[in-house]
Amino acid sequence: MRLQHKTALITAAGQGIGRATALRFAAEGARVIATDIDADKLRDLGDTPGIEAHRLDVLDAEAVAALGNELTSLDVLFNCAGYVASGALLEVSDTDWERSLALNVTAMLRLTRTLLPTMIAGGGGSIINMASVASSLTGVPNRCAYGTTKAAVLGLTKSIAADYIDRGIRCNAICPGTVDSPSLRQRIREQAERQGRPEAEVHAEFLARQPLGRLGTAEEIAALATYLAADESAYTTGTAQVIDGGWLI
Ligand code: NAD
Repeated sequence: MRLQHKTALITAAGQGIGRATALRFAAEGARVIATDIDADKLRDLGDTPGIEAHRLDVLDAEAVAALGNELTSLDVLFNCAGYVASGALLEVSDTDWERSLALNVTAMLRLTRTLLPTMIAGGGGSIINMASVASSLTGVPNRCAYGTTKAAVLGLTKSIAADYIDRGIRCNAICPGTVDSPSLRQRIREQAERQGRPEAEVHAEFLARQPLGRLGTAEEIAALATYLAADESAYTTGTAQVIDGGWLI
């Protein structure tokens, strides 16, 4: 039990990486507050021992403040919520740009700013921010807004790590390659529809980015998040942890 006696809050825990991480953290003995904007997706998670489901739209500043007032202790914060906008610079709409910045960056800053004092008061903890290899690590075609915001996540991660290291706070980012998740499948379906091509062809293009020859699983990312949450990673802070099936080789 690597996370016994720890309380962890996870955003976007309704599906994909956030959900797999909530299940893994609970299996490792943590008390998990699993949050998502979609309460339906949380319903069965809330029946899992160790997991409390709590609806939270990370864009809702009032709801974030209310959660901050409710929480009396927190050891691990996993900022997982994020949104993939497609398109190169000439195709990026103001709406997509603003939504990407708001959800992928500003909401992460606001939730962390709200919960950090509780973590510090409890003697410290681990903050894990969801970034991507599509960031300052590499330029990915058609991911202008997404890559820009995930690069900002790396900057935010290092800033938090530098400023709060002396108060027991560690902050690291996870940078996955392509991970099989409900939203990835939806993106593949939508792209195939838009371009009038078979889904299998679009899927093959996503797969071609991965030298390992397969997509990552949400459980593999959850295992890395577990390491970063646990005390065994006590010497690790300010890092961008690449988990990408060899994409950046
Ligand atoms: P996903 O995109 O399938 O699910 C996202 C979840 O976020 C959903 O349950 C949704 O209800 C929730 N959500 C949406 N808006 C929200 C809001 N305003 N407040 C709270 N919750 C909200 O999950 P995923 O593909 O595992 O992605 C999770 C994170 O991992 C994202 O930040 C994504 O950018 C990042 N990531 C994913 C991949 C990948 O290939 N899947 C690769 C790199 C990084």
